[in-house]
Amino acid sequence: MEILHKPDDVHQWVRAQRRSGAVIGLVPTMGFFHDGHLSLMRLAAKHVDTVVVSLFVNPTQFGPNEDLDRYPRDFERDMLMLRREEVAAVFVPRPELMYPPGFQTEVQVLHLTKNLCGRTRPNHFAGVATVVTKLFNIVQPDVAVFGEKDYQQLAVIRRMVADLNLPVRVIGGPIVREDDGLAMSSRNANLDRSHRVSALSLSTGLTLARELYQKGERDAAAIGAAVQRHILSFPHTAIDYVSLIDSKSLEPVQEADNDTRLALAVHIDGKVRLIDNGLLSKPPQER
Ligand code: AMP
Repeated sequence: MEILHKPDDVHQWVRAQRRSGAVIGLVPTMGFFHDGHLSLMRLAAKHVDTVVVSLFVNPTQFGPNEDLDRYPRDFERDMLMLRREEVAAVFVPRPELMYPPGFQTEVQVLHLTKNLCGRTRPNHFAGVATVVTKLFNIVQPDVAVFGEKDYQQLAVIRRMVADLNLPVRVIGGPIVREDDGLAMSSRNANLDRSHRVSALSLSTGLTLARELYQKGERDAAAIGAAVQRHILSFPHTAIDYVSLIDSKSLEPVQEADNDTRLALAVHIDGKVRLIDNGLLSKPPQER
């Protein structure tokens, strides 16, 4: 596996791959890998010849009081995990190479980024859209794979790719969960034992919403209120949002139907912000 640090080196390496006819796939990540990341790499490998992973904790998508400094990192462990996967190269740029002095360009997806995570993280998606555009230009992948765990991010990237005619096919991968239902996240490493219990309020909140939907409840406000009560019944939880949205438009709905998705963001003990989402129409036992 190639470990590449400089955009120019990636360019050259990918160009050589392409000359030999390879279809290229990119899986952008911030590292500290778990099975969710690995599932995306395996999904990419089904669609392309050459999988490239990027590992970059992108500073511009973190707000001033967010967890950039506390974001978990372990380069050696990540490289060991990557070597066991069908990954041909990993791009690990230093922030100075991605944002050299004088950098002043931003990509913004205007409407989709206003609600949900965009409400409390106003510059987050501009940071994401800009870095993903840069990664697309550096790697020039035919296919890029993103997780449904970050459902709004996936929608924003799809919108950006369509709006800017970027020649990349975007594929979404399903959420990978721990045995008890907690959506895998690098940030779970920052949860201590009691917080880990509270973190389960998200996935069990999703199960509760699905049970209500299955019993015939269609009033989005009623489902949302039940999920809020459920989450707040756990210690250390503070709700950022509990939203019932349409899976395509991401707009809030009043009456739930089979395309309605519950989207959640919850702070645990003020330190770790977790997100989760899922279709209401999926049977509760399936997770
Ligand atoms: P991150 O390193 O957290 O920025 O995530 C990199 C990619 O992995 C993003 O496309 C995420 O949506 C995806 N991802 C993160 N957690 C999961 C998960 N539990 N299941 C599936 N994909 C995930």
